Amino acid sequence: MTHKAGFVNIIGNPNVGKSTLMNVFVGEKLSIITSKSQTTRHRILGIVNGEDFQIVYSDTPGVIKPAYKLQESMLNFSKSALSDADILLYVTDIYEKIDKNEEFLKIVKEAEVPVLLILNKIDQSNDEDLDKLVDIWHENFPKAEIIPTSALKQFNTQNIFNRIVELLPESEAFYPKDTLTDKTERFFVQEIIREKILKFYNKEIPYATEIEVEDFKEDDKIIRMRAVINVERETQKGIIIGHKGVAIKKVGVESRKDIEKFFDKQVHIELFVKVRKDWRNKEDDLRKFGYHN
Ligand code: GDP
Ligand code: MG
Repeated sequence: MTHKAGFVNIIGNPNVGKSTLMNVFVGEKLSIITSKSQTTRHRILGIVNGEDFQIVYSDTPGVIKPAYKLQESMLNFSKSALSDADILLYVTDIYEKIDKNEEFLKIVKEAEVPVLLILNKIDQSNDEDLDKLVDIWHENFPKAEIIPTSALKQFNTQNIFNRIVELLPESEAFYPKDTLTDKTERFFVQEIIREKILKFYNKEIPYATEIEVEDFKEDDKIIRMRAVINVERETQKGIIIGHKGVAIKKVGVESRKDIEKFFDKQVHIELFVKVRKDWRNKEDDLRKFGYHN
């Protein structure tokens, strides 16, 4: 029996549904999803294993013009995804103008590997508009296979999956067949907490926040953990904590529920807030938080 395996990299602009799509493919909530852009900061692998294949998906932050050092690193995660793919999933949606980010699209067009162009969110379109959009994309990017999709409603996602399996090169598996991701348990705890912060706070707060899980102890019954919420300024610390600690309590409660679901186990979590001045622009802090490349 021949075995197939390869890297399928999911790229595109922010907020088009890349993380939603990857989670559909792996059947787990590996990547956090919110309606805010720049939700995904790292490159996250999601691995799908079959008897005679292994697909290594890679979800990326999305392409943005860097305004600070953290975003430079995020952009590099996205660019690196172009260079080591066997198949590219270029995700766009029915709202995105074709000339948004032309430079990046130009690089994608030069790729030597197959490109599936995922035209997402068609649950919010109609046949007529969709036909027009497909024509426009086809003219602009003739080499790509265009697949109208709704990641949210899982429309056409099975077809994308089947097409990927067809296109996979013959190869041995790259990871042991029981591997689901390249990230640690701590990483997913951090991401769950960050998702709550994206959800419950406005404006700059979520972007000025980075979570560190400092303590992670598991016994038969319960996992105990301590997490630090790093912010850039004293005023942000006050906002995170909220009046009489109500705001941070909500983050703790909602995070714990999701972390318990993720590990299928009882969880105890303590949250602390620390000011780490201007961390988004400091090489040392960024390296400590895992943004080196
Ligand atoms: P990413 O930044 O490309 O990773 O995008 P996300 O996966 O985080 O999704 C961004 C937003 O688009 C979220 O609010 C999703 O719920 C929403 N979304 C994703 N896929 C679909 C879809 O097929 N249809 C609709 N209507 N919304 C979607
Ligand atoms: Mg994302």
